[in-house]
Amino acid sequence: MSANPFIIVAIDGGAASGKSTTSRILGERFSLLHSDTGSYYRAVTAEMLHRGASPDDIGSVKAALADLRLGTRIEGGSAEIEISGRRPGDEIRSREVNDAVSHFAAIPEVRESLLGYQRGQTAAARKGGFRGLVMEGRDIGSVIFPDADFRFFLHAESAERERRREKEGRVDRVTERDRIDSSRKTAPFSRPAGAISIDTTLLTIAEVADRMAAFIAPKFAP
Ligand code: C5P
Repeated sequence: MSANPFIIVAIDGGAASGKSTTSRILGERFSLLHSDTGSYYRAVTAEMLHRGASPDDIGSVKAALADLRLGTRIEGGSAEIEISGRRPGDEIRSREVNDAVSHFAAIPEVRESLLGYQRGQTAAARKGGFRGLVMEGRDIGSVIFPDADFRFFLHAESAERERRREKEGRVDRVTERDRIDSSRKTAPFSRPAGAISIDTTLLTIAEVADRMAAFIAPKFAP
């Protein structure tokens, strides 16, 4: 084993499965750049809505995609997306974006526009002096980084996931989004074959993070 390995940790899971908080914890614990790809799909969706594009009109989507200039700003250990030099704000968590994001994310051209961007986060992590990358999403262990050093799949019962969102004061139809994400043709959301699967329903965030960290830690052992 090399003294300074650069590792990739892929975390997939449905809405409110616990993947965002645990990936941030793992990022901090192991000095990995954190990348929340859901926020990228949300940002692109907000931009599409802003430009009046509709998922039912592929021409409008393609026209808007042709104009997208994607950049990255590292903030607090996370790789934040910038669109045309601007970092999207809270609008990416709005009800409009919650309702539209899975429809835009099902369009192959939209996924294609983010593919290279997501893979390119390894370069951002190396440049930023991180020891690796922890990327969360729906197709990270299956499509973006099928050869990641660690691939996790987090899941929890629907009622518990709805409760988590309510507790955060967010209106989000998590099961409906999962249904659309799982049934799309391109890169459907599913458990990647061979991924480490963790049911988070009855676990605290700290317990989930500890379980995952136990797999990763030996990679950095002296
Ligand atoms: O993770 P989050 O719930 O914020 O993701 C928002 C949406 O973005 C998902 O419901 C899904 O439609 C899309 N997404 C995706 N592939 C990813 C990450 C997110 O299709 N890798």
